[in-house]
Amino acid sequence: MPGTGHTAGSLGVDSLGDLAGKRVLVRSDLNVPLDGPADDRAITDDGRIRASAPTIDQLAKTGARVVVMAHLGRPDGAPDPAYSLAPVAERLAEVLGRPVAFASDTVGESATATVAGLADGGVALLENVRFNSGETSKDDSVRGSFADQLAQLGDAFVSDGFGAVHRKQASVYDVALRLPSAMGGLVATEIEVLRRLTVEPERPYVVVLGGSKVSDKLGVIDNLLDKADKLLIGGGMVFTFLKAQGHEVGQSLLEDDHLDTCRSYLERATEKGVEIVLPTDIVVDTAFPSDDREPEPRVVAADAIPADALGLDIGPASADAFAAALSDARTVFWNGPMGVFEVGAFADGTRVVAEALTRIDGLSVVGGGDSAAAVRTLGFDESAFGHISTGGGASLEYLEGKELPGISVLERP
Ligand code: ADP
Ligand code: MG
Repeated sequence: MPGTGHTAGSLGVDSLGDLAGKRVLVRSDLNVPLDGPADDRAITDDGRIRASAPTIDQLAKTGARVVVMAHLGRPDGAPDPAYSLAPVAERLAEVLGRPVAFASDTVGESATATVAGLADGGVALLENVRFNSGETSKDDSVRGSFADQLAQLGDAFVSDGFGAVHRKQASVYDVALRLPSAMGGLVATEIEVLRRLTVEPERPYVVVLGGSKVSDKLGVIDNLLDKADKLLIGGGMVFTFLKAQGHEVGQSLLEDDHLDTCRSYLERATEKGVEIVLPTDIVVDTAFPSDDREPEPRVVAADAIPADALGLDIGPASADAFAAALSDARTVFWNGPMGVFEVGAFADGTRVVAEALTRIDGLSVVGGGDSAAAVRTLGFDESAFGHISTGGGASLEYLEGKELPGISVLERP
């Protein structure tokens, strides 16, 4: 298992020596959900900003000149005002209680001038690194030349954007090849928690999976069948499993290509004595929720989804069964909401599961951008959970046993 053997230790920020007066590039994950028109975006959940603040603050306090790099959404490798980090800079300043100078480009005139203007202990945020196509390019040399330009803006690099460490991208990976580099405290904590989920977890170990990125998440099941005692499956992933069992799923989210995969997981679970719990009832509607239509939720049996309906949440009996299955767990990992929790009519499954997690006597981990946002927007106190991870894809890839490029690049000799 990559990256399981270490704690931050020798890779931590201290390993960079005295940073006073030095320009330190920090990769943070500030990819927060935004709402509203392109010229007046409002942050709907600032969890990732608050989680990123301590490392930035710590560096500023040591007298470093902190240059934060981050992405927002998936712009097309070119500037797009809808994905500007400007509102994030404002919120970051509030959270830090310090001014944050905002550069209106990534490596251009504004970035150069902004960084040059930083005093010791000052903080700057560069515009969305994905406004430059070099950030996500698959071509090493294209990515490398963007990383060269980024590296010009710093004397050292701190990797603290956990949500992006599974990506081989310029501001995550290639910059680390060019500057003295270290692991920020947020990433170190995330890796330590994930290690506890993979190395001798306390049992029973229950995993709850949901959400909409079905094919992304099927891979993790493969690995968890060797580790977990129970797997509870909700969200959009359910319907591929139900279909694999021979049930019709109407208009629900379905990954036809993965029916055989789901069938093989169900068989392997039986062989290994891992309990896979699927919902027995589903909340359906005849259309996906939208602003111009009142939801008309109905509860149907999971094996009797009408042809014109789509499943949008696990039903009440299933939510109770999931909560019961969680009640004696000593280790829980939860990724992916149980339903379309953004709409009140389809939020109950997610709420009941979240509530069950708050009662766990042991380690409860919530991973995934939307799952983390769900527990906060549904009004739960973050401290009721053992750990709320800032990265969904990264934690899943770690649990799948994959190498995380943004971590292994820091570990290289
Ligand atoms: P995370 O960010 O926690 O990893 P995902 O991004 O995979 O989770 O999925 C989150 C999204 O899944 C939410 O926006 C939610 O509305 C959606 N979702 C949950 N259940 C369903 C469903 N049955 N059908 C369609 N979308 C769903
Ligand atoms: Mg998501």
